[in-house]
Amino acid sequence: MHTAVLIPGDGIGPEVSVAVRQVLEAAEAPVRFVECQAGEAALEAGHDNLLPEETVEAIRSHGVALKGPCTTPIGKGFRSVNVALRKTLNLFAAVRPVRNLPGVKTRYENVDIVIIRENTEGLYSGVENFITDEVVASMKVATRPACHRIALWAFRYATRQRRKAITVLHKANIMKLTDGMFIEEAKRVHEQDYPNIEYSELIIDAASMKIVQDPTQFDVILCENLYGDIMSDLCAGFVGGLGVSPGANFGTEHAVFEAVHGSAPTIAGKNVANPLALLMSATMMLEYLAESRSDESCGAAASKIRAAYDRALGDGQKTQDLGGELTTTAFARAISERL
Ligand code: ATP
Repeated sequence: MHTAVLIPGDGIGPEVSVAVRQVLEAAEAPVRFVECQAGEAALEAGHDNLLPEETVEAIRSHGVALKGPCTTPIGKGFRSVNVALRKTLNLFAAVRPVRNLPGVKTRYENVDIVIIRENTEGLYSGVENFITDEVVASMKVATRPACHRIALWAFRYATRQRRKAITVLHKANIMKLTDGMFIEEAKRVHEQDYPNIEYSELIIDAASMKIVQDPTQFDVILCENLYGDIMSDLCAGFVGGLGVSPGANFGTEHAVFEAVHGSAPTIAGKNVANPLALLMSATMMLEYLAESRSDESCGAAASKIRAAYDRALGDGQKTQDLGGELTTTAFARAISERL
């Protein structure tokens, strides 16, 4: 049995977390969850912080977490839980796989892209100040070690996953120093260490047009923080939207798995949210455990769950966001029945 932290989070987080736990239990996945709070749920539970120290400590001690979406109250001086967690645990690499699913018809077929996003720098560094009362500035930060680290991580990932090509998205024609450094390091890693992986660079605006014309041209996409955030949601739209888009954040010692979607407050508490994005994130967690702890039973559980949700979708079992009628709980049941 492995122990992982479970953060249900806010909005639809608690209901999709319950559904995911049920599927994992039905699949007899060798994971035991320790539940911790973050986001508004942490404030409601009496903590004075959106990201309580005990939650961070639990992730440090267990090494892995499955995290629901966390809300940051706007304009109350709180720092985003997601940004704080990534920075505190140095989760520098975000990975978002985007793949067509059986029975989920979209405008595109054969989409199979992985977006790798640098998670700690760029415009998300949080360095903002007033120049005068009328002028504010936000600083985009790039450091050579972080640019090199994410490039190395991306090429290693591509090699392990038997991917063929990496495309780096940038705007180095305008942001010559920051994006310039990002592509310089990516190119260096490609030339020095991974010449067998095809490498290309594309300016982000041109890439946006190309990708909506034909997303099957792309394999692994590597971006700095802001471009990666936007590209992840854009690509989610190719395969069925946020309800089916999983993600993971990796550091050198810890990993946090979470859906791309937010707390979706408009549908929260109605038992209509799609739990698949979090369930797919949980299968990524099982694969990570299989690899990092050499435990094949985790890999087997991941394959079993993936086959079951593919089968459920193929049989037309879907939540409302995918054009179906099932509730969150009914969809989780439909998956469990097909394990
Ligand atoms: P937040 O402020 O936490 O980012 P949000 O509603 O602005 O929340 P998302 O939670 O990312 O942003 O969702 C945007 C919309 O996508 C939601 O209003 C909802 O319609 C849809 N959505 C997101 N996740 C799901 C899901 N798991 N199942 C069904 N619909 C979803």
